[in-house]
Amino acid sequence: MSTEEENQTVFDVAAASMLTEELRDVFASGKTRSYEWRISQLKSVIKMCDEHEEDIADALHQDLSKPKLESIVYEVLVSSEVDWWYVVQISMLKNSCALAIKELKQWMMPEKAKTSLLTFPSSAEIVSEPLGVVLIISAWNYPFLLSLDPLVGAISAGNTMVLKPSELSPATSSLLAKLLPEYLDVSSIKVVEGAVSETSALLEQKWDKIFYTGNGRVGRIVMAAAAKHLTPVVLELGGKSPVVVDSGIDLQIATRRIIVGKWGCNNGQACISPDYIITTKDYADKLVDSLKKELETFYGENPLESKDISRIVNSNHFSRLTKLLDEDKVSGKIVYGGERDEANLKIAPTILLDVPRDSLIMKEEIFGPLLPILIVSEIEDSWDVINSGTKPLAAYLFTNNKKLKEQFVMSVSAGGVAINDIAMHLAIHTLPFGGVGESGTGSYHGKFSFDAFSHKKSVLYRSFTGDAALRYPPYTLGKIRL
Ligand code: NAD
Repeated sequence: MSTEEENQTVFDVAAASMLTEELRDVFASGKTRSYEWRISQLKSVIKMCDEHEEDIADALHQDLSKPKLESIVYEVLVSSEVDWWYVVQISMLKNSCALAIKELKQWMMPEKAKTSLLTFPSSAEIVSEPLGVVLIISAWNYPFLLSLDPLVGAISAGNTMVLKPSELSPATSSLLAKLLPEYLDVSSIKVVEGAVSETSALLEQKWDKIFYTGNGRVGRIVMAAAAKHLTPVVLELGGKSPVVVDSGIDLQIATRRIIVGKWGCNNGQACISPDYIITTKDYADKLVDSLKKELETFYGENPLESKDISRIVNSNHFSRLTKLLDEDKVSGKIVYGGERDEANLKIAPTILLDVPRDSLIMKEEIFGPLLPILIVSEIEDSWDVINSGTKPLAAYLFTNNKKLKEQFVMSVSAGGVAINDIAMHLAIHTLPFGGVGESGTGSYHGKFSFDAFSHKKSVLYRSFTGDAALRYPPYTLGKIRL
């Protein structure tokens, strides 16, 4: 390639500006507002998934060596090939599309609103209007789902859009850049691949909404860029999601759910996977024994060789995680695992017991296969431990005690809560998915995705009757007596 050709492919501020102008013109034409356009695009997303299941699974495998079944269930939908990671991603995405196709007419209908005597006679409604030109920036850990699930919301709401997938999952990013123009309306839906400089060029532009998934550091950059244009944002961030384990529970089921929510979800590289456990001193050994037993059942004696565990995304994250593990404060605390294979970027499921709260591992989101356990005197002490940190994206409690459940829901602030399970609240499309405080702002999934990309416009209809003289100056006592 000549230097001239190379320069032409650079995506800079000028290119980003041209792109948004083009999308603004398309939005102004009204094309994306129609019900028919939205439905055709949603159907095409499903068709794309059906026709490229294998390509999607391969890309996810290249990026994270994800077990294949996991992809289909979490990111697209079950196929004959047993590849868990792929099943998860494809099934969730196809479910989002199917729901939007089924409900879209209803979602788009103006919602009647009550009026008051003040405007009698009148009627009112709330009209959902598309915001315009939106930007979706996604993360690497569920690169297919986190790119296309928000896109389904943006399409359903009738916007034009740019998707910027993560450069840390390059195979999925380039597959999306290839497939989206083949299946979707290329004049309204664009993909821009790239890293910091391309994203920064995009962030210079004026958008009608920015939907960002990723860490809080970049979340702050996104919010600051959006503030310049008063652009609203959805920030889907992370945090330290705790699991409180009470005694007197079905320990085997609890541990199996914890394991699959931690190591079964991308080897802990998931935003709502358990970050740490809190339990009481007298229950800790039982819990550790049960975790060890079930881990061995799932992943065998040498989990580094298990095909059911994803690798760490890259060497930077690998060293970040090993640094947490090697800190003096926690090195004697490993009660299971700790093995690593740097060449293949693999770290075995690792449990650390009675970890000091001032250790590095308790100061940042782990986002990997390490699971510290904190000990408290009374299980109710857990609420203070959790609330003393930043608000997590998810919080979990395993208990049979009704009072504890109530206390937990009322006292612990988190994006979402699941009692006696891990991560499954995310699969309920009638629940909004999003953070609170430092774990994010705004939410999506189901109709919440449509709402995230719509403006709720208040509309009042009046006629020329019912005009009270009292409303107009001069304001005299005589008018009031009338
Ligand atoms: P990442 O490295 O893929 O970054 C996310 C996006 O930000 C990418 O598209 C990247 O290009 C862009 N980016 C990176 N640096 C930038 C910069 N300086 N300026 C502008 N853009 C930049 O992903 P990550 O941040 O490592 O993702 C992991 C984090 O995301 C964790 O904290 C996790 O909890 C969170 N997460 C949240 C959710 C959720 O739904 N709430 C889902 C997945 C991950």
